Amino acid sequence: MIAKYYTTNDDNSIICELCPHNCHIKPDKMGICGVRRNVNGNIEILNYGIISSSGLDPIEKKPLYHFYPGHKIYSIGGYGCNLKCTFCQNHEISQHIPELGDALKHNQPTDLVAKAKFLPENIGIAYTYNEPTIMFEFMVQTAELAKSEGLKNVMVSNGFINLKPLDELTGLIDAFNIDLKSFSDKFYREYTGGRLNPILNTLSRIRESGKHLEVTFLVIPTLNDSLTDASAMFDWISSNLGVNTILHINKYYPAYKMQISPTPTSTLIELYELARTKLKHVYIGNIHGQTLGNNTLCPACSATVIKREGYHTQITALDSNGYCKICGYGPIAIMD
Ligand code: SF4
Repeated sequence: MIAKYYTTNDDNSIICELCPHNCHIKPDKMGICGVRRNVNGNIEILNYGIISSSGLDPIEKKPLYHFYPGHKIYSIGGYGCNLKCTFCQNHEISQHIPELGDALKHNQPTDLVAKAKFLPENIGIAYTYNEPTIMFEFMVQTAELAKSEGLKNVMVSNGFINLKPLDELTGLIDAFNIDLKSFSDKFYREYTGGRLNPILNTLSRIRESGKHLEVTFLVIPTLNDSLTDASAMFDWISSNLGVNTILHINKYYPAYKMQISPTPTSTLIELYELARTKLKHVYIGNIHGQTLGNNTLCPACSATVIKREGYHTQITALDSNGYCKICGYGPIAIMD
């Protein structure tokens, strides 16, 4: 498999241009993500077709609330990540990479698309669980095939990708959920090993592409829950991505290296109320028994157009084109 987006130097070292780390990889060494190795001045893709997890998930679990609400999507993930978030909620597969040799099954795009077509009530394939950017070539080939078979493609990502490969993806991916983990570059550098600006560039570029976009903000007490920073984040989203941008404000639980206590519900509600003054569609997620911030309201007449209880979704007042049945506003969601 030929890797994309890299250049080879005279000394056979490589600059990988897939993500903003732009790793300088010496011969026989790997990039930060641990799945792209320099072999004789070429990138060897160690993780091609290796799947760590898969399942037929409610689309709301990605989370995507305005894209085929109430439907299911075949979700797949591999191993590794280009960020090193100390609070990673999926660290078992993102931060621990097994020996990626021949012992593991290397699936082909045809295998996954056949499975996706076979699964009942499935609308497509979601590239998720770990960071899909680092299985770029496999994702592109699978997404091309899935698209040609009439399936939808969804990418759930940290957004740390260079714009050129992102442009290739926006031609194939129908809906994105991108993490915006903080509005502080210091936070990104300290707790994720990434940077803020590339994420903002990714969000803007996806918005320009016209593809469906939802944003997730995982709130960690004392680290990224300052009202000042959050207010600046919501203002940026509103001004640069638009007031219709869908924002998920999610509860954090201690995971991996982070032992801070879970996000209090009061903090989530405070941020939700603040975001609602700037954006039309804000949700509270990753929390059981919370009713505020679950449902979709029509921004024009405030009717409840989609009702959610856990992953049970009921379309209460949207027509087949996603417009509010009460007042005609829309489209609010992408439907069948
Ligand atoms: S994709 Fe991996 S090897 Fe390439 S720049 Fe990013 S972290 Fe480095």
